[in-house]
Amino acid sequence: MSKIQFIVFFRFCRVEVMDQYFDTSKNTVHVQLKPDERFTPICSKCKQKAPDIHSSHKRSVSDLSILGAETVISIIYRRVRCTQCGAIVEALPLIDPYKRVTRRPACYILQLCQYMTNKEVAQHREYFSLIIKDAFLNST
Ligand SMILES: [Zn+2]
Repeated sequence: MSKIQFIVFFRFCRVEVMDQYFDTSKNTVHVQLKPDERFTPICSKCKQKAPDIHSSHKRSVSDLSILGAETVISIIYRRVRCTQCGAIVEALPLIDPYKRVTRRPACYILQLCQYMTNKEVAQHREYFSLIIKDAFLNST
């Protein structure tokens, strides 16, 4: 049985996929990411390169559903020593500092809010997995 490669969802995000698995009992995709060390870290505040690493931490965030399954991303992120801002979280294109969701569901929800009420968006959220599944199947 072939294994689904989730890395296609995270290309160009300055991160590497360390592990990935699908928990069939919970219908949840787990993806573990770490910063791609080929790139110099960037300060999330001033956007300047900050090569000096202060510390590393781990947290979990939600992403858009993948193939109909809830997606949880565990990411190792770094605090860097920026010459202008001091110790601060590095910028990652996938997620904004201190947020609980990646930018993808956040952008999707913002787009929905242009056309729907907040209550309708909340009710619609349960259909995210079907929408993403259909989008994926249509693109292959
Ligand atoms: Zn800075």
